[in-house]
Amino acid sequence: MHPELARLVYEAKTVAVLTGAGISTESGIPDFRSPGGIWSQFRIIEYAEFMASEKARLEDWRRRFAMEDQLGEVKPNRGHEMIARLVASGKCPAVITQNIDGLHQASGIPDDKVIEVHGTARHARCTFCGTRHEIAECRAMLEKTARAPVCRECGSVVKSAVVMFGEAMPEVAFARAVEVAENCDLFLTMGTSLVVHPAASLPVHALRAGAKLAIVNREPTGLDDYATLVLNGEIGELAGN
Ligand SMILES: [Zn+2]
Repeated sequence: MHPELARLVYEAKTVAVLTGAGISTESGIPDFRSPGGIWSQFRIIEYAEFMASEKARLEDWRRRFAMEDQLGEVKPNRGHEMIARLVASGKCPAVITQNIDGLHQASGIPDDKVIEVHGTARHARCTFCGTRHEIAECRAMLEKTARAPVCRECGSVVKSAVVMFGEAMPEVAFARAVEVAENCDLFLTMGTSLVVHPAASLPVHALRAGAKLAIVNREPTGLDDYATLVLNGEIGELAGN
């Protein structure tokens, strides 16, 4: 780890971590929003359209299955491993992530210590009763019926657990993220340009509560001036062993 980052982490009692797309690029996952990313090739399907149109649902599922095929092969990298060690040490109560790739859990962090503010692509849920459905199960259903998957419990629309454009953010997860931010003395952001709200406001909550801010990202961010430490470069090199 970069010596200045190591010192800040060592001196802190409680470290909150926020991660974005930049931490997963070393694992081979493209930044889905960036040029060339999976979403830039497609028209955006918003939540309301998904709920209203079978055609939109079929198109969304086709994309989810393509993403699932990509995600199935990726593994956590040095950045994820550094955070997993931090959580295992007891110093980091939870990692807050904007990512939907499930790589923090794959690095060994228990599910209840990962706060996914944009949801997850690793499973799906019924939009009415909330019953969890596996992606493979949804795929089998679609292939069998040529219809978008419906809930095995209540028959309602099933949707990937990713927060869609136009869909409300998961309030419980976000409230927990704010609580973590307000109760740390070091807030560390890794691989996020801090432009997507409301996650981008979390470091501000931490700063207001008196925490130090450390930013590790490839490019500058809008909060660099408020940070005790800014490291621009490859996350794996700056955070890894
Ligand atoms: Zn249901």
